[in-house]
Amino acid sequence: MSYARPTIARIAGYTPGEQPKGRRLIKLNTNENPYPPSPMVADALQHFPAERLKLYPVPGADSVREAAAELFGIDSRQILCGNGSDDLLTIALRTFVDQGGGFAYTEPSYSLYPVLADIQGARKIPVALDENFMLPENAAELAAGAALFIMARPNAPTGNSFPKARVAKLCREFAGVVWVDEAYADFANDNCLDLLGQFPNVVVSRTLSKSYSLAGLRLGLACAAPELIAEMDKVRDSYNIDMLTQALATAAIKDSAAMRENVRRIRASREKLCGEMLAMGCDVLPSEANFIFAKPPRPAAEVFQALRERGFLVRYFNLPRISDYIRITIGSEEDMAAFCAVCRELFTAGK
Ligand code: PMP
Repeated sequence: MSYARPTIARIAGYTPGEQPKGRRLIKLNTNENPYPPSPMVADALQHFPAERLKLYPVPGADSVREAAAELFGIDSRQILCGNGSDDLLTIALRTFVDQGGGFAYTEPSYSLYPVLADIQGARKIPVALDENFMLPENAAELAAGAALFIMARPNAPTGNSFPKARVAKLCREFAGVVWVDEAYADFANDNCLDLLGQFPNVVVSRTLSKSYSLAGLRLGLACAAPELIAEMDKVRDSYNIDMLTQALATAAIKDSAAMRENVRRIRASREKLCGEMLAMGCDVLPSEANFIFAKPPRPAAEVFQALRERGFLVRYFNLPRISDYIRITIGSEEDMAAFCAVCRELFTAGK
């Protein structure tokens, strides 16, 4: 007997990546950043007067939106803050998709998308990525009838990006809202922020969780035309960004140079790891994110377990079209060197 709505009782819900307790593992499983956030964040934390917490925070997180608007070269009325970008995705479904309404999303991609659809009671329209995990040319046609289309660019867990012209084509041809989840865009060669000036139906979302080294803070940003932002603003919780997060996120965004330096190191490590994994006989997809997606020369489930026993936690995937893969978050230079040494031992044993 369940007291939940039938829609909820039927679904399994989302399982977040493991955050291990106890034994110290080198975490390469949830795409966190191995380097600390900007020193300006530590400074803002140290000087935050605890007494201020007796009051409610600024409802619209104005200082965060203003800092982000300046960085992105847009108006602050074009930005909405979320409690992480997951919160923004929930707001998207609730704003744009009625119960029973169509919701399109790329597949394989971030596994939260179909879960949010189930929670909302939306009709799911998965759009299969092509054989190279690219957005198909005819995506708009495949998504016909949907009110909202979400894709991740770069994609997760595959790590590849899509040609921007295809995203633009989708924005032009699709009758609903096109949401480009750019959680990993700071690690990529380009981004879709310039589409904001061209299409009234596009939303680009960002997060401080990856490139800004602030997964524990929970701050996401949605950028779009002021009209779309105003609709989403009706749906979000009034105080969805707490006061401390507003102060620290503002400091982080104002010092984006620190983020870019961490990104530079991670991109260099990514290219190095890719080369080494290829040389060890892995299939590695081209990555524009802070992780790589690889099919090892031995069964991935076995490799996952062997890595864990040796102190490295990666993510194992065994889903349709992406079975037998591991996803490895790019860690520090030292952790990557140690990781490669263990992989060499695992992949060459018995050869
Ligand atoms: N989008 C994608 C594609 C992701 O991989 C993640 C991280 N799990 C998120 C959004 C959510 O990130 P956050 O809620 O930490 O901003």
